[in-house]
Amino acid sequence: MKEINNQNIYEWFDHPGESPLLIAGPCSVESPEQILQTAQELKAATPISLLRGGVWKPRTKPGSFEGIGAEAMRWLVEAGKAIQTPVTVEVANAEHVELALKEGADVLWIGARTTVNPFYVQEIAEAIRGVNIPILVKNPIHAEIGLWAGAIERFQKAGVERIAAVHRGFFSTAKSLYRNAPGWQHSFDLRALMPDIKIICDPSHIAGKRSLVEEVSQVAMDLRMEGLMVESHHDPDCALSDAQQQITPKRLSEIIGHLKIRTNIPLESHPELAKLREALDVLDQEMVDILKKRFDRVKDIASIKEREGLSIFQMERWLKLVQEQTSLAEGKGISPAFIHELFSLVHKYSIDYQTSLIKKDS
Ligand code: PEP
Ligand code: MN
Repeated sequence: MKEINNQNIYEWFDHPGESPLLIAGPCSVESPEQILQTAQELKAATPISLLRGGVWKPRTKPGSFEGIGAEAMRWLVEAGKAIQTPVTVEVANAEHVELALKEGADVLWIGARTTVNPFYVQEIAEAIRGVNIPILVKNPIHAEIGLWAGAIERFQKAGVERIAAVHRGFFSTAKSLYRNAPGWQHSFDLRALMPDIKIICDPSHIAGKRSLVEEVSQVAMDLRMEGLMVESHHDPDCALSDAQQQITPKRLSEIIGHLKIRTNIPLESHPELAKLREALDVLDQEMVDILKKRFDRVKDIASIKEREGLSIFQMERWLKLVQEQTSLAEGKGISPAFIHELFSLVHKYSIDYQTSLIKKDS
């Protein structure tokens, strides 16, 4: 099992298979004392490889603390020097880049609200052309993977050689435990598109509250993400931004101590797993066969609906189906929410299929 340890960030970027990188620090740099004390407590508590701190903090709504700006950049760099740790800051435009580079930032990060906007991403990419400073690109607020990958590509085209992605969850209107829906599958999609880009998880912005940071961090490690970026403040209750989700350096060190960091095992080297996976493959094939049979029936129903002039979507039918299947699943110990989601997809596809059949015939 690999441990989180103190490591050189360039080495981490340059070599696959390094231990997970730990980035920690406050949401915002608030004063020279706050950042220095947090940095020193972090250094004493846990092996962090990069100290984070926001200095330009346009919040979702105006009127709250919006960061101190260039002066705080200086405090961040001084705190990093005091604990011999490189520092990273969020930049959202060319002026931020200029100031961050002037003050000595070691790594820059692009926030979720910037990744959504190719104008800003391009402006930042132009501002760092030729500098080759490492860049961390957070996912856009909404789950459009093209924007995430597009931002990474803009930096690649500007000559940046060390780029990592940061998964910080996605805005969702659904009621949830989390501040931002994890949407883990989107990081798999990014990996499929860009297999060489390492992905770090930001459990703080996914969780939104202290009590969930450990569990989200463990999921990230289980999914073999290559690092964690955690918001930590020496006195979280008094933090000027994101107070509910920041944790003390001591709590961070407990979480890091609890984390199980799993290694990937080659398929053939674990006979017990290989056998179970073979059984899963058979079941998956059966599921595809069943779906094929279901879609054949859906097709038959489409011709009746067309012949008799019936509407394709019938609400009562859908509600009945979902009610029956979710309670059946519940009785078998399967999550009703999962079955609901699964059938929503099957049903949506069936409706689209019938629509396309009927359109073709008319
Ligand atoms: C942050 O890291 O403090 C931040 C503002 O994050 P995000 O861009 O993910 O909202
Ligand atoms: Mn924050």
